[in-house]
Amino acid sequence: MMRWSRALLNTLREAPQDAEIVSHKLMIRAGMLRKLGGGLYTYMPLGLRALQKIERIVREEMDRAGAQETLFPILQPAELWKQTGRWETMGPGMFRVQDRKEAWFVLAPTAEEAFTALAKSEISSYRQLPCTIYQIRNKFRDEIRPRFGLIRGKEFIMKDAYSFDADDAGADASYKAMFDAYVRIFKRVGLAATPVEADTGDIGGNFSHEFMVFAESGEDGILSCGSCGYAANQERAERQQVRVAYQTEAGAAERVATPGQHSCEEVAKFLGEPLDRVVKSLVVLANGKPVMVLVPGDRELNELKLRRLLGGAKIEAADEATVAAVAGPCGSIGPVGVSVPVYADSALEGAANVIVGANEEGFHLRHVSLARDAKVTQFADLALVREGDLCPHCGQKLAIRRGTEVGQCFKLGKKYSQAFGATFLDEKGSPQVLTMGCYGIGVSRTLQAIVEQRNDENGIIWPAAVAPYQVALLILDPDNPEVVAKAEALAEALEARGIDVFIDDRAERPGIKFKDADLIGLPIRVVAGAKGFAKGGFEVRARTEKDSAIVAPEAAAELIAERLKSL
Ligand code: ATP
Ligand code: MG
Repeated sequence: MMRWSRALLNTLREAPQDAEIVSHKLMIRAGMLRKLGGGLYTYMPLGLRALQKIERIVREEMDRAGAQETLFPILQPAELWKQTGRWETMGPGMFRVQDRKEAWFVLAPTAEEAFTALAKSEISSYRQLPCTIYQIRNKFRDEIRPRFGLIRGKEFIMKDAYSFDADDAGADASYKAMFDAYVRIFKRVGLAATPVEADTGDIGGNFSHEFMVFAESGEDGILSCGSCGYAANQERAERQQVRVAYQTEAGAAERVATPGQHSCEEVAKFLGEPLDRVVKSLVVLANGKPVMVLVPGDRELNELKLRRLLGGAKIEAADEATVAAVAGPCGSIGPVGVSVPVYADSALEGAANVIVGANEEGFHLRHVSLARDAKVTQFADLALVREGDLCPHCGQKLAIRRGTEVGQCFKLGKKYSQAFGATFLDEKGSPQVLTMGCYGIGVSRTLQAIVEQRNDENGIIWPAAVAPYQVALLILDPDNPEVVAKAEALAEALEARGIDVFIDDRAERPGIKFKDADLIGLPIRVVAGAKGFAKGGFEVRARTEKDSAIVAPEAAAELIAERLKSL
């Protein structure tokens, strides 16, 4: 039970300038959150209560799935990160600090290294497997664009879990247990989150799912099939391959002047040809070595697909000089005559009579047949899938929506265990490398994502399971002892049933109390006032309803407890 007169709680009429999305605005206006610095937020008493309720649900479901809670230091020695090479590859996104002896440390952005090192020292026998451990801990990332309040912070709270298994089949079972726990967690906290196939960045038998909430402000594209249920992050999404229409040769390749025309759009327009007849040629560096990539002129390269095709190679843009050395001047390049490996999107297989750059400023080649005139090393799925492409499973059209990731399950395989030499002795006594999975939930992001999904023009609509308090009890006449006595008695009765009550006992006008109650958004509002009692009792209303019902004082606690079950 809490009384507003004693609470550190200020609601605001206006949202701060930097709050762009509704959940960020509401969290600040409702007094749940305060900004300490860019991407850094303080949880105020009400916000913290909601956060802790989410954490409790996460813990219950992790424990139910057989995982054990641990707590690792946030400050981690650089040596750990050097062992896997991530001291270098994490780049500027990782906060690094030095102690007085000038030794380097990391403010953990995630914790695969620390957990794997622990597994190496603690797990020695197959008898200890499977083993899944987790923590709920602050993480730090120097994000390029921290924004949207808790959605993308510099410091945030993550539940991270790691599974260790004897073999692939075991790892798959551990993955499934976590996946199922995630489904239960998001359901219980009242958040509609959809699992979608996600990129793994690596080759082999690894796979991953992201749990996405749909939101206009989301930074990810999610392709989904309304027919068979296929859903995937755009980074990962595949499509039923449809080859470009130009499959018939039309005489020899011909050099054609295209003065000042560089982009595929410009060339197509200049030559009066459809955009997909022009082949988009790109030179990129794969692990530092130049390769050429071809996609139809109306498509974009999906760099992650190229990376996967090339065994996890690091893909970077090539500078102009490299492009010129490999092919020709930027904007006029093509695959004819180049000697670096050429990877082409499968849609271009059999492409004849298409247009490519001539590797010469101001010229393109038309009537080009890729099979005849160029040397394509490999055709593969390389293009970014877009709205309207065909579902890889059922061939229906895919739709795209924006989304934000609230959780991710990842089958890691042996990447980290191998780097640390984390092995166990199998039944025959021979050493085997552990097979791992890792599983993250953005706990603080989830808190705000709930608000983003559940609000109206008046404020937040908390689901009962995570609401800071379940009942807002508004005392309209705080100077009337009879009203106060009845309100206090109800509060006691509710608390006795395990229901958290927040009492607005301020000397404020009723209108202000009503507005604030809607803004804060506790699931049930109870009004205690002389007027209501004259009509027969408390006025009780769910946050989702317009009208209150008069409920006799004796019946109120029971009725509220019952109603909360479905809110
Ligand atoms: P994103 O693509 O949104 O940057 P990520 O894939 O980098 O997220 P993971 O490394 O998978 O994130 O971390 C696990 C979870 O932590 C994410 O699912 C997300 O909910 C949360 N998370 C990641 N970065 C942030 C951040 N900067 N602020 C708040 N939550 C975050
Ligand atoms: Mg992720």
